[in-house]
Amino acid sequence: MGGGSPYEGGCQCGAVRYSVEAERLTAYACHCRECQKQSASAFGLSVPVFEASLNVTGMTASWRRPTDSGSHTRCFFCPTCGTRLYHAGENRPGLVTVKGGSLDDAGQLQPVAHIWTASKQSWVVLPADVPHWEYQPETQEEWMELLGWAN
Ligand SMILES: [Zn+2]
Ligand SMILES: [Zn+2]
Repeated sequence: MGGGSPYEGGCQCGAVRYSVEAERLTAYACHCRECQKQSASAFGLSVPVFEASLNVTGMTASWRRPTDSGSHTRCFFCPTCGTRLYHAGENRPGLVTVKGGSLDDAGQLQPVAHIWTASKQSWVVLPADVPHWEYQPETQEEWMELLGWAN
């Protein structure tokens, strides 16, 4: 994603705004049922960033749900319009995943991987040159490789 730091985004009604201090953003698409529900669409777009680099203005609300890995994730959203903004997984402290569609310049995000393709909607055609995972990475090393953050 071009444009440089900071990246900005916000909710649908504008009450919550945020910026991310990062050289570049990395996105992956998740086709799990939870992401289909939370996005009310075909898949979720997750943009992992360091929690310390995310600066949120305006009041958010949250709810907490169990994850497949046996941990929990806290999901933050605008209490007025309901837009989901970011998730904070308790098994990955210091990292949050911004919901990609809430970025002002969301169209520049190109997923580096697709995960949970086992529950992908049948009409979604994935690009052949982007890695697919039937489920999701299990180890930190696999996640780093998926994101291109390895080495
Ligand atoms: Zn809002
Ligand atoms: Zn998902």
